[in-house]
Amino acid sequence: APAVVWLRDDLRVSDNPALREAVDSGRPVVVVYVLDDSGDVGRPLGGASRWWLHHSLEALDASLRKRGNRLVLRHGDGAGEIASILEETGAGLLTTSRRYTRGEREQDDRVQRAAEERGVAVSVHTASLLHDPGAVLNGDGERFGVFTPFFRALTRGGAPREPVAAPNAVAPWTGDLRSEDLDDLGLLPIGPDWSAGLGETWTPGEKAAHRRVDEFVHERLARYADQRDEPAAEASSRLSPYLKFGEVSPYQVWHRVQQADVPADIRLKFLTELGWREYDYDLLDAHPDLETVNIHREFDAFPWAEVDDRVLRAWQRGRTGVPLVDAGMRQLWHTGWMHNRVRMVTASFLIKNLRYDWRIGERWFWDTLVDADPANNAAQWQWVAGSGADAAPFFRVFNPVLQGQKFDPRGEYIATWVPELRDLDAKGRHEPWTVPDGPTTGEHPAYPEPIVDLKASRAAALDAYQRMRS
Ligand code: FAD
Repeated sequence: APAVVWLRDDLRVSDNPALREAVDSGRPVVVVYVLDDSGDVGRPLGGASRWWLHHSLEALDASLRKRGNRLVLRHGDGAGEIASILEETGAGLLTTSRRYTRGEREQDDRVQRAAEERGVAVSVHTASLLHDPGAVLNGDGERFGVFTPFFRALTRGGAPREPVAAPNAVAPWTGDLRSEDLDDLGLLPIGPDWSAGLGETWTPGEKAAHRRVDEFVHERLARYADQRDEPAAEASSRLSPYLKFGEVSPYQVWHRVQQADVPADIRLKFLTELGWREYDYDLLDAHPDLETVNIHREFDAFPWAEVDDRVLRAWQRGRTGVPLVDAGMRQLWHTGWMHNRVRMVTASFLIKNLRYDWRIGERWFWDTLVDADPANNAAQWQWVAGSGADAAPFFRVFNPVLQGQKFDPRGEYIATWVPELRDLDAKGRHEPWTVPDGPTTGEHPAYPEPIVDLKASRAAALDAYQRMRS
C-alpha cells in the first residue's frame, strides 16, 4: 500500500519531513497537490500568488521526475480529493505538513477522520514554521502580548532542528491515477497578461530559492543590519515568496544564516525578522479572523473616510503625487513585491492620510503580492493601523517625504520606479511640487500634485483617532 504525501505550503523536496517519512517507510509514494480555490477552506489566492504557484508546481514536478516520481495535480475540494486518492490507491499512510488558518485546520481534521476511518495512518509535521502556534507561552502559560519576549522564549530552547536531507529517489506507485494538466488549473492570468514584470523579476521554485539564499548570505547579509531599511540598497533577502510557498523552509534559512561568516549581531537582526513571521502566525492562531477583525476592538468604531474610487485607484497604481508612495505601489504592481519600509509607508498613507480602512489595503496587497501571506499580511496591516498586537501607535503617522529623505536620500529608489522624476535632483525627487517649471506644472503635467495635503490629512487622522477614543 503506497504512502500519499499531500503537499500544500511546503513545495520542496529538501527539508520536507512529510516526504522524507513517506520515502523512509519503504512504500511506493504518491505526491499530491490539490488546488482548492473554492473559498471554502480559506481565502482564495490572489492573482500574483496564483502566478507564482503555477511556476512553483512546475518546478516541483520536474524535481520529483528527476527522482523517479511525479506530482499528481487535482482541482477541487481538498478533503474530498485526498479521501478519493486514498481510496483509489489503497494507501496505508498519509503524510503532510501542518497549516494554520482556521479553515485549513478544520479541513485537516476532516481529512484525518476520513483517513482513520479507512485505517490509513496519518502523520502531520511542523515544517513551515519553527514552532507550533500557541506552544510558545510565558511563565503563566499565556501567550505573549508583545514580540520581544516571544522571540526570546522561541529561541530559548536552542537552535531549531536541523534540516532533513532531500531523498535521492522517490519510488513511484505504479497504479493508474488521474492528474490534471497544470495548464488546465488556470493559474496564469488570461486576457490582459499583467505578469511580464513578475517573470522578469522572479524564478519560482526550490532551486531558485536556494540560489537566493546563497546570494543573500554571500552578498547581502553583511550589510543587512545597516541597510535593510533602504529600499535602493537591496540588502534584504527577498526570500518572502519562497518562504510563503515553502520552497525553502525557515529551518534551512535559519541554519544557513547562523553558519555565515558575519558578526552575531547581524545574524540576529535577520533571524529576528524570521521571528516576526512566527509571531504573526501566533497572532493568526489567537485571532483566526485576523484579516477582517481588529485585534483592538476599539478600532471597530474608527471613523474611516468614504472611499473615492479615483483616489483608491491612484494609490493602487502609484499616481498619488507622493513620490515614495508611488514608487512603492509601482514596484508592487510591476514585480509583485515591495520593500518592507515602503510597505509601511504606503500602508500608513492609505490608513492615515487617506483615512481608508486598513482592510481595503490589505486586500490589494493580498491580490498583488507574490508573498501574500494570511498571517503576515493581515498582522502587518493591523500593525501599521495601530489596531494590532505590539503595533505602532496610530498617532505615529509616517511623513512619506521625510521617510523618503531619510531612507532613500538620493532618491534612487524613486528614480527607479517613477521615471517622471528621474531627471530631478534628490530634493526634487522627494518634493517635485517645489521645482520651478517642474513635472507637476504646465498644462499636461507629467506627474500629479499630491492627492491630499499631507499636513492637513495628518491632523484629520489624529482628530479621527481622538473621536474614536472618546
Ligand atoms: P527580509 O528582511 O530578508 O526578512 C526575511 C524574512 O523574514 C522575510 O522573507 C519574511 O518571511 C520575514 N519577515 C521579514 N519582515 C517581516 C515582518 N515585518 N513581518 C513578518 N515577517 C517578516 N510579509 C510577507 O511575507 N507576506 C505578506 O503578505 C506581507 N505583507 C506585509 C504588509 C505590510 C503592510 C507590511 C508593512 C509588511 C508586510 N510583510 C509581509 C512583511 C515584510 O514586509 C516582508 O516579509 C518583507 O518585506 C519581505 O522581504 P524580504 O524577504 O527581503 O525580507
